[in-house]
Amino acid sequence: MTLRIPSYLAGRAVDTGRWIDRENPSRPDRIVGSVSELDATTTAEAIESAHAAFPHWAARSLDERRELLLAATQAIMAQREELALLLTRELGKVITDTRGEIGFTDLFVNFCASVADEVMSAQEIDDAAGRLAVLREPYGVIGAITPWNAPVILTSLKVAPALLTGNTIVVKPSPLAPLAVTRLLGIMGEILPPGVLNVVNGGADVGETLTTHRLVRKVAFTGGGPTARHIMASAAKGLKPLVLELGGNDPAIFLEDADLSPASVGRAVFGSFLTTGQVCMAAKRLYVHESRADEFLASYLEVAAELLKVGDPELEATTVGPLVSMAQVQRVSGLVEDARSRGGVVHELGEVMDEALVRSGYFLRPTIVTGLTDDAPLVREEQFGPTVPLLTFADEAEVVARANDDELGLASSVWSSDEERAFAVARQLRCGYTFINSHNRSGLTLRAPFGGHRGSGFGREFGREGVAEYLQTHTVHLPAAMRGSGAGAQGNAYPGQ
Ligand code: NAD
Repeated sequence: MTLRIPSYLAGRAVDTGRWIDRENPSRPDRIVGSVSELDATTTAEAIESAHAAFPHWAARSLDERRELLLAATQAIMAQREELALLLTRELGKVITDTRGEIGFTDLFVNFCASVADEVMSAQEIDDAAGRLAVLREPYGVIGAITPWNAPVILTSLKVAPALLTGNTIVVKPSPLAPLAVTRLLGIMGEILPPGVLNVVNGGADVGETLTTHRLVRKVAFTGGGPTARHIMASAAKGLKPLVLELGGNDPAIFLEDADLSPASVGRAVFGSFLTTGQVCMAAKRLYVHESRADEFLASYLEVAAELLKVGDPELEATTVGPLVSMAQVQRVSGLVEDARSRGGVVHELGEVMDEALVRSGYFLRPTIVTGLTDDAPLVREEQFGPTVPLLTFADEAEVVARANDDELGLASSVWSSDEERAFAVARQLRCGYTFINSHNRSGLTLRAPFGGHRGSGFGREFGREGVAEYLQTHTVHLPAAMRGSGAGAQGNAYPGQ
């Protein structure tokens, strides 16, 4: 019997009789489950229900909203293990990571709950210049469109701040990993008033409705650049504001004084290969000072042999699961083949734990590629898979210029045993986030904003900025001269302070 998870709108599970199947990328002959497929009409119903719920939800006190959201995450945590296993089966992400991913919802709701008072507080001034209130108000209905690679985390980054600040939301998950996130949002939805949180699964018509419907007041999108361009064009028709969190081609710079101990190199290995390399902020180009390149490669191969265990993502010991789809396998192996044809040397990494499974699923052996120049597609394009180029450099100015020579500008990292020097190099990098002596998840903090420069998008998630993204200001002003009768105040006066 196939697992069937209905889309969720207006406080009820919706079985449309049409189902989107999701296969298991480790065992593509098995269907993990299905979500019910909506169309433009049912998506519009979800938006209208979110619109109807908005005034009541926004009128509740922050304390009431916070209490309900914290109760909702408790309900999720009670089902953490089942949700994690479901996410592992549909996505191929290893079980030790999917447990963390489900737990992230709880962490992030708690973080947003702890800063919401401060972020939402109005600026109130009453002085000789007049009386001023700068109110911070929710937008109304938020449309959230999310990708497959970290579906629960990337959805929580939108749902938690949007709902705490008084917006309502309609979420469209990716058809490549819709199951766990639809179930998780359904669990939350049961605890919240009907219409506050809605989940719509479906194809392009569902996405198009979310970006064009009159009642959607802001769109938050995480995904690829081509889709973002399409969404921006659609949203332009209704002048909808956007948050766009897009891809990255992150450089990781190892200065000549970088610590190359196994612990440090291990962080670099996971920096590139977590979620089988399918992470927006993975280290995707490694630049190592030429005086340390041989040592770096030797250490990298040794440490990766210990850390990268390729196999069944449901087993605790596995650290590298399959890719999400055959299309992704073909794209990444195409980049590696191209690198080989240009004279690149492809070094295999890690250890394969289950040869038979790896042959039948969407697996790729992790690799590091040396001997490439910066114009190789593996260096220029976001690979989004388990391979990374290793490049060398001679001096700091050169590596900064090469790192910055990219249309994407999501994150980067600088590795050095001199903290001051690392921060000085970081200040020259043109991107939204620079990790020091780490790269990817382990270097993040909930309290700082994350987001891109240039082709990596705009708007921020995480930090107070990520909560403020769901609030717009509303200024109320009485100039001092117009107090009372306002006698003598001129209508053509220029503004004062
Ligand atoms: P994608 O752009 O293919 O899809 C993202 C979402 O958009 C999916 O839900 C998809 O169904 C939907 N969509 C597709 N066409 C649409 C349309 N016309 N209108 C509305 N919605 C539409 O991305 P993906 O392959 O799911 O994810 C991988 C990409 O996401 C990578 O480039 C990665 O770097 C990026 N990413 C960025 C971040 C970040 O925070 N910056 C995080 C994770 C992933």
